[in-house]
Amino acid sequence: MFARLLEVLDTEDLSWHDLANCRGADPDLFFPERGASTRTAKSICRQCAVRDQCLEFAIVSSEKFGIWGAMSERERRKIRRERADAEKRRKVS
Ligand code: SF4
Repeated sequence: MFARLLEVLDTEDLSWHDLANCRGADPDLFFPERGASTRTAKSICRQCAVRDQCLEFAIVSSEKFGIWGAMSERERRKIRRERADAEKRRKVS
């Protein structure tokens, strides 16, 4: 997971990644096969000091795969949709 994080973040401020709780964890936990449990990965994320930064990065960069900030792609997609809807409502009003 951490290697993937570095790969994706190579143009971003990486100051927060040193605190990633997934350092050294099995990447397969964070990029599970379809239908596999995400419980362990989410548990690691919930103890992570940089969970908010990680989640925000994944949302903003539309990361399609994996558990980031204790959320799956489906959960992140819901947040992106809600933000887009809120932005549309803001522009209309
Ligand atoms: S929130 Fe999860 S995926 Fe993100 S850095 Fe922390 S442990 Fe890693």
